[in-house]
Parts: sequence; structure tokens; C-alpha cells
Amino acid sequence: MNRLFVIAAPSGAGKTSLIHELRRRDPNLRMCVSHTTRARRATEVDGDDYHFTDVAHFESMIAGDAFLEYARVFDHYYGTSRAALTAAFAGGHDVILEIDWQGARQVRSREPSCTSLFVLPPSRTELERRLRARRTDSDAVIARRLRDAVEDMSHYREFDYVIVNAEFERAVADAREIIAGRGTALRADRPELAPLLAELLA
Ligand code: 5GP
Repeated sequence: MNRLFVIAAPSGAGKTSLIHELRRRDPNLRMCVSHTTRARRATEVDGDDYHFTDVAHFESMIAGDAFLEYARVFDHYYGTSRAALTAAFAGGHDVILEIDWQGARQVRSREPSCTSLFVLPPSRTELERRLRARRTDSDAVIARRLRDAVEDMSHYREFDYVIVNAEFERAVADAREIIAGRGTALRADRPELAPLLAELLA
């Protein structure tokens, strides 16, 4: 049976690289191409990274119940269309949705058998360093994303599992354990996370 995984993280937690590596090691894992109304970055390909669209079209898709989930993130719409999910599942693949916490909440309520993961950075300092190292966004956008990151991270307990991306190989191994159904030690309610969360959410 197709399995559905949902992965969320604040910007800069390293989620995109993590998913890239998971897919490299597990060819059965497919991504679902989301729709967004934000501008395409120079490195992005329409239909591959996202389906880039305008607000009017996105809202017509909402009205037509075309989305499994959608949310406004950083003042833009992002959503997973039902059609994109069906396409990703075709051929018996497992699918991973890289979406924000609001979308994850909708998917969990509509597809309760999904497995949800939240990725945390190892510290606030490291989160900020990673956001700056990316250099694709302006200072104002980075500052806004840092503020939003704290809000995002405050929802970690809604997820089944939490991965701390301190050391990349370890984070990949942890995600693979969860995907393999052996993630008991990585549950979101484990007490060891408390000091890190206190620092990240302060
Ligand atoms: P970015 O603009 O950096 O590509 O993505 C910004 C945020 O939007 C990330 O937190 C990402 O997970 C989220 N996002 C991307 N696609 C979707 C989607 O289809 N649905 C939802 N709810 N969030 C998404």
C-alpha cells in the first residue's frame, strides 16, 4: 500500500537537503509538486520544484476543491493538489509532502494514517546562520523568516516524530528509521527534547 509521509520544518532547518538525500537512497519515495503563488527563484523550474501560478488561479482551485491541503505561508499561497498527490502515488510509490505545519494539520485530519515528521535545527544561532548562508532572500525576508520559524517550531508536538538536524548523516539515518517504522525513540513527545525546545522557542 502507498504510504504518505509529511515533513515540516522552519526555513533553514535543512529539510530540503534531507529530503533530497532520502530520495537518493530510496527511489521508491516520491515528492509531490506543490502549487504556489510566490515568485520563482532563479534556480527553480516550473512544474518540477513547484507549479508556479497566480492568486486568481490558485483561488479558483480552492473553490473547485482541488487541494488536499493549502495554506498561506510568508504571504503566499502554497498547496498540495489532489491531482499532484495521485500522480506521485502512481506506480505504487510512497510519497513525501514537504509542507508547513498548517498544511500538515489538514493532511493529518484527512489522511490519519500518514506519518508526520518535524525537523528542528540544533540551535537558534545555527538556524540563523543557515538562513543567511542561503543568500537567496533579502535581509528583510530573512528577518521575517526567523520570526516565523519560532511560530513554526511551536507546533512540533502536533507531529508524530521530531528529528534534530545537528549532524546531517545522523538526521538522514533518523529519518530513514522513521520511514522504516522503527522511530519509537524519535517520537515528538520524548523528554530529551525539552532543553533544545526551551532555547529555540525562547
Ligand atoms: P519556500 O518558499 O521556501 O519554497 O517554502 C516556504 C514554506 O512553504 C516551507 O515551509 C514549505 O514547507 C511550505 N510549503 C511548500 N509547499 C507547500 C504546500 O504544498 N503546502 C503547504 N501547506 N506548505 C508548503
